[in-house]
Amino acid sequence: MNWRIPLSDVDFDDAELQAVTDVLKSKWLTMGAETQRFEQAFASFIGVKHAFAVSNATVALHLANAALGIGAGDEVLVPSLTFVATANAVKYTGATPVFVDITSKDDLSISPTAIEAAITPATKAITVMHYGGYLCDMEAINAIAGKHHLAVIEDAAHAPGTELNGKKAGTFSDAACFSFFSNKNLVTGEGGMIVTDRDDLADKIRLMRSHGMTTLTWDRHKGHAHSYDVVALGYNYRIDEIRSALGLTQLGKLPKNNERRREITNWYRAQLSEVDELTIPYLQRPGLSAAHLFPILLDSKIDRTAFIDQMKQRGIQTSIHYPPIHQFTYYRQQNGKNNKSLPLTESVGQREVTLPLYPTMSAEDVKQVVNAIKDSISSAHK
Ligand SMILES: *Cc1c(COP(=O)(O)O)cnc(C)c1O
Repeated sequence: MNWRIPLSDVDFDDAELQAVTDVLKSKWLTMGAETQRFEQAFASFIGVKHAFAVSNATVALHLANAALGIGAGDEVLVPSLTFVATANAVKYTGATPVFVDITSKDDLSISPTAIEAAITPATKAITVMHYGGYLCDMEAINAIAGKHHLAVIEDAAHAPGTELNGKKAGTFSDAACFSFFSNKNLVTGEGGMIVTDRDDLADKIRLMRSHGMTTLTWDRHKGHAHSYDVVALGYNYRIDEIRSALGLTQLGKLPKNNERRREITNWYRAQLSEVDELTIPYLQRPGLSAAHLFPILLDSKIDRTAFIDQMKQRGIQTSIHYPPIHQFTYYRQQNGKNNKSLPLTESVGQREVTLPLYPTMSAEDVKQVVNAIKDSISSAHK
């Protein structure tokens, strides 16, 4: 498809070309100086002690669960209205993801009340996901976690730069995971980061990222070591220098680009307030969102499939965040009779549409999307 207005777009220019070219010229392609610089810059941006760049956010989530010692027999509370990786990462450890409903049709993130109701003696952790870049109610969630001695993981794939009272997403948990996939706010193609303030988790993550080896190829190249031991079961979850160089360059643009995303969000909010047949979540959220997504909820009298098709005919790409995980064939088979219904998640899963949102969008683009919505809605009545 040649979209007139795509769902997302990448903000690359000569700076990224130069950064990648410099890495290629250096001929050091695996984890090295660029990766260290990217990790240090990211840690300082988020305001956290340790940051480890990895191949993607899915493996970051696996490392977070594994480093916390989660395994067979354990339960981890997760949202269902998220990308499937949030739950898969729990399965990789042998533990069971237990799906929890969202707060409301205004706050599409995991509900603190529903979290508390889902806790059993087997519960070890809660994974939250800051939907669209809007921070979950971390005060309530961390209070529950404290009371029940549960670990907290943030799936912060949507939320690099999200903040509340000067504290960034990624600092509200034991470990937080970011994604640099091609449609996220900070793009390296494939790529991710896991951050933590806990030294004990950092020691485990450092080992597990690279085969459980006590020294890295980079250390040996620098003459700091000549051999290694393997002291834990590890993985190859490393990133490469090309992606780290891209990430460092993109990190420099992130504050400005997030600001632009918030501006575009405000244009959408103002222009869509006059459209009756939809609602807009997160209108009154405190703090600063990374504004990764702009979700709308269509009224039940609108046929979503017809609406999306009408938008497509006008050259405008939309998406759905998300088809609920507990309704996927694999998870229905896994959960069997224990597959509880999650009414709010299921309702939002049927009515949500995500509109185009990216920093290089113009005011004219937004106007075109809004006009297309008005036309599409009137021809998508059930
Ligand atoms: C993109 C995304 C992931 C997975 O990220 P990858 O880097 O593609 O592995 C996980 N969780 C959420 C909420 C995401 O949006």
